Amino acid sequence: ESKCKGRGRATLFEEDMLRDLRQTRMVERDLRAAILLGELELAYQPLSSADGGIVACEALVRWRHSLRGVIPPSEFIPVAERTTLIDQLGEFVLRRACCDMKEFPGLSFGVNFSANQFKRDGVVSMVEAILAETGTDPRRLAIEITESMAMSDGEDVRKRLEALRSLGVKISLDDFGAGFSGFAYLQSFPVDSIKIDRSFVAKLGTSSVSSVLVSALVNVAHAVGVNVVAEGVETEEQHRLAVAAGADLFQGFHLARPMSLAALRDHVARQEAGGLPRSGAASAPR
Ligand code: C2E
Ligand code: MG
Ligand code: MG
Ligand code: MG
Repeated sequence: ESKCKGRGRATLFEEDMLRDLRQTRMVERDLRAAILLGELELAYQPLSSADGGIVACEALVRWRHSLRGVIPPSEFIPVAERTTLIDQLGEFVLRRACCDMKEFPGLSFGVNFSANQFKRDGVVSMVEAILAETGTDPRRLAIEITESMAMSDGEDVRKRLEALRSLGVKISLDDFGAGFSGFAYLQSFPVDSIKIDRSFVAKLGTSSVSSVLVSALVNVAHAVGVNVVAEGVETEEQHRLAVAAGADLFQGFHLARPMSLAALRDHVARQEAGGLPRSGAASAPR
Protein backbone atom coordinates (compact mmCIF):
# COMPACT_ATOMS: atom_id res chain seq x y z
CA GLU A 1 0.00 0.00 0.00
CA SER A 2 2.15 2.85 1.26
CA LYS A 3 5.14 1.17 -0.40
CA CYS A 4 3.44 1.59 -3.75
CA LYS A 5 3.34 5.35 -3.44
CA GLY A 6 6.83 5.69 -4.83
CA ARG A 7 9.30 8.44 -4.17
CA GLY A 8 8.89 12.13 -4.77
CA ARG A 9 5.48 12.20 -3.28
CA ALA A 10 4.73 13.52 0.18
CA THR A 11 3.25 11.06 2.63
CA LEU A 12 0.05 12.07 4.37
CA PHE A 13 2.16 12.94 7.39
CA GLU A 14 4.42 15.18 5.34
CA GLU A 15 1.43 16.78 3.66
CA ASP A 16 0.03 17.60 7.09
CA MET A 17 3.31 19.07 8.19
CA LEU A 18 3.58 21.19 5.08
CA ARG A 19 0.05 22.42 5.49
CA ASP A 20 0.78 23.35 9.12
CA LEU A 21 3.93 25.12 8.08
CA ARG A 22 2.18 27.08 5.35
CA GLN A 23 -0.60 27.98 7.80
CA THR A 24 1.97 29.13 10.37
CA ARG A 25 3.77 31.25 7.76
CA MET A 26 0.51 32.87 6.69
CA VAL A 27 -0.55 33.67 10.22
CA GLU A 28 2.94 34.94 11.01
CA ARG A 29 2.95 37.26 8.00
CA ASP A 30 -0.54 38.56 8.75
CA LEU A 31 0.20 38.99 12.44
CA ARG A 32 3.35 40.97 11.72
CA ALA A 33 1.21 43.32 9.63
CA ALA A 34 -1.55 43.37 12.23
CA ILE A 35 0.82 44.65 14.90
CA LEU A 36 1.93 47.45 12.57
CA LEU A 37 -1.62 48.25 11.43
CA GLY A 38 -2.95 48.38 14.96
CA GLU A 39 -5.33 45.46 14.49
CA LEU A 40 -4.57 44.08 17.93
CA GLU A 41 -6.71 45.25 20.81
CA LEU A 42 -7.36 44.29 24.38
CA ALA A 43 -10.48 43.01 26.04
CA TYR A 44 -10.71 43.30 29.80
CA GLN A 45 -12.37 40.81 32.12
CA PRO A 46 -13.14 41.91 35.69
CA LEU A 47 -12.11 39.93 38.77
CA SER A 48 -14.27 40.46 41.82
CA SER A 49 -14.09 39.74 45.50
CA ALA A 50 -16.63 37.53 47.30
CA ASP A 51 -19.01 40.47 47.77
CA GLY A 52 -19.07 41.12 44.02
CA GLY A 53 -16.95 44.27 43.97
CA ILE A 54 -14.47 44.56 41.09
CA VAL A 55 -10.89 44.67 42.30
CA ALA A 56 -8.91 43.78 39.20
CA CYS A 57 -9.06 43.09 35.47
CA GLU A 58 -7.30 40.69 33.16
CA ALA A 59 -6.13 41.98 29.78
CA LEU A 60 -6.89 39.52 26.97
CA VAL A 61 -5.55 40.21 23.51
CA ARG A 62 -7.85 40.16 20.45
CA TRP A 63 -7.01 40.41 16.78
CA ARG A 64 -9.53 42.41 14.81
CA HIS A 65 -8.73 41.03 11.36
CA SER A 66 -9.93 43.11 8.41
CA LEU A 67 -11.39 40.07 6.64
CA ARG A 68 -11.80 37.40 9.28
CA GLY A 69 -13.31 39.46 12.08
CA VAL A 70 -12.21 38.98 15.68
CA ILE A 71 -9.68 36.15 16.06
CA PRO A 72 -9.20 34.64 19.55
CA PRO A 73 -5.70 34.36 21.06
CA SER A 74 -5.73 30.56 20.87
CA GLU A 75 -5.38 30.93 17.09
CA PHE A 76 -2.40 33.27 16.99
CA ILE A 77 -0.55 33.21 20.32
CA PRO A 78 0.89 29.73 19.59
CA VAL A 79 2.14 31.02 16.21
CA ALA A 80 3.57 34.15 17.79
CA GLU A 81 5.30 31.94 20.36
CA ARG A 82 7.07 29.98 17.65
CA THR A 83 8.58 33.20 16.30
CA THR A 84 9.96 36.35 17.84
CA LEU A 85 6.61 38.05 17.21
CA ILE A 86 5.63 37.14 20.77
CA ASP A 87 8.07 39.80 22.01
CA GLN A 88 6.47 42.58 20.00
CA LEU A 89 3.02 41.32 20.86
CA GLY A 90 3.88 41.09 24.56
CA GLU A 91 5.28 44.59 24.58
CA PHE A 92 2.23 45.94 22.80
CA VAL A 93 -0.14 44.29 25.29
CA LEU A 94 1.76 45.51 28.33
CA ARG A 95 2.02 49.09 27.05
CA ARG A 96 -1.67 49.20 26.09
CA ALA A 97 -2.76 47.77 29.45
CA CYS A 98 -0.55 50.20 31.40
CA CYS A 99 -1.99 53.15 29.45
CA ASP A 100 -5.57 51.96 30.02
CA MET A 101 -4.96 51.30 33.75
CA LYS A 102 -4.68 55.02 34.36
CA GLU A 103 -8.41 55.36 34.04
CA PHE A 104 -9.04 52.90 36.85
CA PRO A 105 -6.87 53.93 39.80
CA GLY A 106 -8.51 51.47 42.20
CA LEU A 107 -7.97 48.34 40.10
CA SER A 108 -4.97 46.16 39.48
CA PHE A 109 -4.42 44.66 36.04
CA GLY A 110 -3.31 41.21 35.00
CA VAL A 111 -1.28 40.76 31.83
CA ASN A 112 -0.47 37.33 30.38
CA PHE A 113 3.13 36.56 29.50
CA SER A 114 4.28 33.63 27.39
CA ALA A 115 7.02 31.31 28.56
CA ASN A 116 9.09 32.39 25.56
CA GLN A 117 9.03 36.01 26.68
CA PHE A 118 10.65 34.89 29.92
CA LYS A 119 13.42 33.15 28.06
CA ARG A 120 14.76 36.55 27.00
CA ASP A 121 17.27 38.37 29.10
CA GLY A 122 15.62 41.68 28.31
CA VAL A 123 12.19 40.88 29.72
CA VAL A 124 12.79 42.61 33.06
CA SER A 125 14.18 45.80 31.53
CA MET A 126 11.31 45.82 29.02
CA VAL A 127 8.76 45.74 31.85
CA GLU A 128 10.69 48.33 33.83
CA ALA A 129 10.86 50.65 30.82
CA ILE A 130 7.14 50.41 30.09
CA LEU A 131 6.21 50.99 33.73
CA ALA A 132 8.41 54.10 33.77
CA GLU A 133 7.24 55.37 30.39
CA THR A 134 3.56 55.04 31.34
CA GLY A 135 4.02 56.14 34.94
CA THR A 136 2.44 52.94 36.24
CA ASP A 137 2.63 51.87 39.87
CA PRO A 138 4.27 48.41 39.60
CA ARG A 139 2.14 47.12 42.48
CA ARG A 140 -0.95 47.42 40.29
CA LEU A 141 0.48 45.09 37.66
CA ALA A 142 0.15 41.31 37.94
CA ILE A 143 2.03 39.26 35.39
CA GLU A 144 0.25 35.98 34.68
CA ILE A 145 2.45 33.05 33.80
CA THR A 146 1.71 29.35 33.36
CA GLU A 147 3.52 26.53 35.07
CA SER A 148 4.82 25.17 31.76
CA MET A 149 7.29 28.01 32.09
CA ALA A 150 9.14 26.12 34.79
CA MET A 151 9.94 23.24 32.48
CA SER A 152 13.00 24.78 30.91
CA ASP A 153 15.50 27.35 32.10
CA GLY A 154 14.06 27.14 35.59
CA GLU A 155 16.85 29.09 37.23
CA ASP A 156 16.83 31.97 34.73
CA VAL A 157 13.07 32.23 34.93
CA ARG A 158 13.20 32.27 38.72
CA LYS A 159 15.75 35.09 38.70
CA ARG A 160 13.64 37.15 36.32
CA LEU A 161 10.54 36.62 38.43
CA GLU A 162 12.49 37.70 41.52
CA ALA A 163 13.69 40.81 39.70
CA LEU A 164 10.13 41.73 38.68
CA ARG A 165 8.88 41.17 42.19
CA SER A 166 11.55 43.40 43.61
CA LEU A 167 10.15 46.13 41.35
CA GLY A 168 6.83 45.54 43.12
CA VAL A 169 5.15 43.68 40.26
CA LYS A 170 2.90 40.79 41.34
CA ILE A 171 3.29 37.34 39.84
CA SER A 172 0.24 35.19 39.27
CA LEU A 173 0.37 31.50 38.38
CA ASP A 174 -2.29 30.92 35.72
CA ASP A 175 -4.21 27.71 35.01
CA PHE A 176 -2.99 26.30 38.31
CA GLY A 177 -3.44 22.55 38.62
CA ALA A 178 -3.89 22.00 34.90
CA GLY A 179 -0.36 20.66 34.56
CA PHE A 180 1.56 18.28 36.74
CA SER A 181 3.90 20.49 38.68
CA GLY A 182 1.60 22.97 40.39
CA PHE A 183 2.71 22.46 43.95
CA ALA A 184 6.33 21.86 42.98
CA TYR A 185 6.26 25.20 41.20
CA LEU A 186 4.93 26.94 44.29
CA GLN A 187 7.95 25.64 46.16
CA SER A 188 10.58 27.00 43.83
CA PHE A 189 8.99 30.05 42.19
CA PRO A 190 8.03 33.22 43.95
CA VAL A 191 4.36 33.91 43.26
CA ASP A 192 1.74 36.18 44.83
CA SER A 193 -1.34 34.38 43.63
CA ILE A 194 -2.56 31.30 41.83
CA LYS A 195 -5.48 31.09 39.44
CA ILE A 196 -7.16 27.74 39.90
CA ASP A 197 -7.73 26.30 36.45
CA ARG A 198 -11.28 26.47 35.25
CA SER A 199 -11.42 22.69 34.83
CA PHE A 200 -11.57 22.47 38.65
CA VAL A 201 -14.14 25.23 38.94
CA ALA A 202 -16.28 23.63 36.23
CA LYS A 203 -16.59 20.47 38.34
CA LEU A 204 -17.75 22.33 41.45
CA GLY A 205 -21.25 21.14 42.18
CA THR A 206 -20.88 17.88 40.26
CA SER A 207 -19.23 15.99 43.12
CA SER A 208 -18.28 16.64 46.72
CA VAL A 209 -14.71 15.62 45.85
CA SER A 210 -14.40 18.75 43.69
CA SER A 211 -15.26 21.04 46.58
CA VAL A 212 -12.83 19.23 48.85
CA LEU A 213 -10.12 19.51 46.21
CA VAL A 214 -10.61 23.24 45.67
CA SER A 215 -10.71 23.85 49.45
CA ALA A 216 -7.45 21.92 49.79
CA LEU A 217 -5.80 23.98 47.03
CA VAL A 218 -6.97 27.17 48.74
CA ASN A 219 -5.71 26.00 52.14
CA VAL A 220 -2.26 25.10 50.84
CA ALA A 221 -1.99 28.39 48.96
CA HIS A 222 -3.08 30.43 51.98
CA ALA A 223 -0.69 28.52 54.23
CA VAL A 224 2.21 29.74 52.10
CA GLY A 225 0.84 33.27 51.83
CA VAL A 226 -0.49 33.01 48.29
CA ASN A 227 -3.84 34.45 47.16
CA VAL A 228 -6.31 32.37 45.20
CA VAL A 229 -8.38 33.29 42.16
CA ALA A 230 -11.13 30.93 40.96
CA GLU A 231 -11.30 31.30 37.19
CA GLY A 232 -13.95 30.19 34.75
CA VAL A 233 -16.85 30.75 37.16
CA GLU A 234 -19.82 30.13 34.87
CA THR A 235 -22.73 29.55 37.23
CA GLU A 236 -24.23 30.89 40.45
CA GLU A 237 -23.57 27.52 42.09
CA GLN A 238 -19.91 27.46 41.08
CA HIS A 239 -19.57 30.97 42.47
CA ARG A 240 -21.19 30.00 45.77
CA LEU A 241 -19.04 26.88 46.11
CA ALA A 242 -15.84 28.71 45.18
CA VAL A 243 -16.66 31.33 47.83
CA ALA A 244 -17.32 28.53 50.33
CA ALA A 245 -13.98 26.92 49.43
CA GLY A 246 -12.31 30.15 50.49
CA ALA A 247 -11.06 31.57 47.19
CA ASP A 248 -10.19 35.28 47.38
CA LEU A 249 -11.15 36.47 43.90
CA PHE A 250 -13.53 35.27 41.21
CA GLN A 251 -13.45 35.55 37.45
CA GLY A 252 -15.76 34.07 34.87
CA PHE A 253 -18.64 34.55 32.47
CA HIS A 254 -21.11 34.41 35.36
CA LEU A 255 -19.58 37.55 36.84
CA ALA A 256 -18.53 39.42 33.72
CA ARG A 257 -17.33 38.59 30.24
CA PRO A 258 -14.22 40.05 28.66
CA MET A 259 -15.26 43.49 27.35
CA SER A 260 -13.94 46.50 25.49
CA LEU A 261 -12.31 49.38 27.33
CA ALA A 262 -15.45 51.45 26.74
CA ALA A 263 -17.65 48.71 28.21
CA LEU A 264 -15.31 48.41 31.18
CA ARG A 265 -15.72 52.12 31.84
CA ASP A 266 -19.51 51.67 31.94
CA HIS A 267 -19.26 48.54 34.02
CA VAL A 268 -17.05 50.17 36.66
CA ALA A 269 -19.13 53.36 36.66
CA ARG A 270 -22.32 51.35 37.19
CA GLN A 271 -20.72 49.49 40.05
CA GLU A 272 -19.55 52.72 41.65
CA ALA A 273 -23.09 54.04 41.34
CA GLY A 274 -24.24 50.91 43.14
CA GLY A 275 -26.39 49.80 40.26
CA LEU A 276 -24.46 46.78 39.12
CA PRO A 277 -26.11 43.42 39.56
CA ARG A 278 -24.01 41.12 41.71
CA SER A 279 -23.76 38.54 38.97
CA GLY A 280 -24.97 37.65 35.51
CA ALA A 281 -23.01 39.38 32.78
CA ALA A 282 -25.12 41.37 30.38
CA SER A 283 -22.34 42.40 28.04
CA ALA A 284 -21.79 40.59 24.76
CA PRO A 285 -18.95 38.10 24.45
CA ARG A 286 -15.78 39.39 22.85
P1 C2E B 1 -6.10 32.67 30.37
O1 C2E B 1 -5.01 33.61 30.70
O2 C2E B 1 -6.32 31.52 31.28
O3 C2E B 1 -7.40 33.56 30.22
C1 C2E B 1 -8.68 33.16 30.55
C2 C2E B 1 -9.42 32.68 29.33
O4 C2E B 1 -10.64 32.09 29.74
C3 C2E B 1 -9.82 33.81 28.37
O5 C2E B 1 -9.90 33.26 27.05
C4 C2E B 1 -11.23 34.15 28.86
O6 C2E B 1 -12.03 34.76 27.89
C5 C2E B 1 -11.74 32.77 29.18
N1 C2E B 1 -12.79 32.78 30.19
C6 C2E B 1 -13.02 33.69 31.15
N2 C2E B 1 -14.08 33.35 31.91
C7 C2E B 1 -14.53 32.18 31.41
C8 C2E B 1 -15.62 31.30 31.76
O7 C2E B 1 -16.39 31.54 32.69
N3 C2E B 1 -15.77 30.18 31.00
C9 C2E B 1 -14.94 29.88 29.96
N4 C2E B 1 -15.18 28.77 29.28
N5 C2E B 1 -13.90 30.69 29.62
C10 C2E B 1 -13.69 31.81 30.33
P2 C2E B 1 -9.18 33.98 25.83
O8 C2E B 1 -9.34 35.47 25.93
O9 C2E B 1 -9.64 33.30 24.58
O10 C2E B 1 -7.66 33.68 26.09
C11 C2E B 1 -7.17 32.36 26.04
C12 C2E B 1 -5.75 32.29 26.49
O11 C2E B 1 -4.90 33.02 25.59
C13 C2E B 1 -5.50 32.94 27.85
O12 C2E B 1 -5.87 32.06 28.88
C14 C2E B 1 -4.01 33.19 27.77
O13 C2E B 1 -3.30 32.01 28.08
C15 C2E B 1 -3.81 33.52 26.31
N6 C2E B 1 -3.73 34.98 26.15
C16 C2E B 1 -4.72 35.90 26.10
N7 C2E B 1 -4.23 37.15 25.95
C17 C2E B 1 -2.87 37.01 25.94
C18 C2E B 1 -1.77 37.94 25.84
O14 C2E B 1 -1.93 39.16 25.76
N8 C2E B 1 -0.50 37.40 25.85
C19 C2E B 1 -0.28 36.06 25.97
N9 C2E B 1 0.98 35.61 25.98
N10 C2E B 1 -1.28 35.16 26.09
C20 C2E B 1 -2.56 35.64 26.08
MG1 MG C 1 -4.47 34.62 32.33
MG1 MG D 1 -6.24 31.13 33.14
MG1 MG E 1 -5.81 29.42 29.97
